[in-house]
Amino acid sequence: MQEEVIQSEKIKIVSDMAASVAHEIRNPLTTVRGFIQLLGAEHLDQDKKQFYRNLCLEELDRAQLIITDYLTLAKPDPELIENIDIHEEIRYLSNVLMTYANYYNIHINTVIEETSVLRITGDKYKFRQALINIGKNGIEAMAHGGLLEIYATADNDGVAITISDTGTGMTKDQIQRLGNPYYSTKEKGTGLGTMVSFGIIKKMGGKIDIQSVPGEGTLYRLVFPKADMPESAS
Ligand code: ADP
Ligand code: MG
Repeated sequence: MQEEVIQSEKIKIVSDMAASVAHEIRNPLTTVRGFIQLLGAEHLDQDKKQFYRNLCLEELDRAQLIITDYLTLAKPDPELIENIDIHEEIRYLSNVLMTYANYYNIHINTVIEETSVLRITGDKYKFRQALINIGKNGIEAMAHGGLLEIYATADNDGVAITISDTGTGMTKDQIQRLGNPYYSTKEKGTGLGTMVSFGIIKKMGGKIDIQSVPGEGTLYRLVFPKADMPESAS
């Protein structure tokens, strides 16, 4: 009986989400369609072409992220556990975020403490998704440019990754609402990003600490348990 209730609740959540995602995907598709039509116009100069092309790519990326987030929520995932090299992941993250940052006139600064062995365990692709969602929020909070800093280090607690921005910041109330489905203050937001990210991080045994000052910026501090290292590794 109890299980049936839970099951029907789940179906309700998933079908609500499907409706919302369908709606969210339609917007970028419509936009891309429009720009492709514009690209077909005669006498279009190179700058305009490049501009339309970039907008198309950006919209397609957006659609892809929405789908990925949705699938992560809807699919009961077979957990993949592997060693994750933080150096490699931070490099990857900054490359991916760079494509958004250039567009918004934002600098990305990456610092990795070289002295420490930075390894954690989990599903690498999920981990990437979690960090990209958080980094992207930082970039989107800096509509007039700014600095996104990604810092990784090992401390007593584990491996700490901080992602900070100099954007709009959030009030205490807004921080409280992070991770709730559909909570978004953006015109084109889904409100799924933080929900997905937080779910992934918690599943990996990670802790999330958020500090934010309205008008100044936001700092996400994520701490993950260190991967067990063989004796010989230093
Ligand atoms: P979305 O990005 O689609 O709006 P998210 O779940 O990723 O959904 O984020 C929810 C909301 O949290 C955002 O709309 C924004 O208001 C707020 N938020 C999250 N991260 C930041 C940040 N770094 N700076 C300012 N606001 C943020
Ligand atoms: Mg987001």
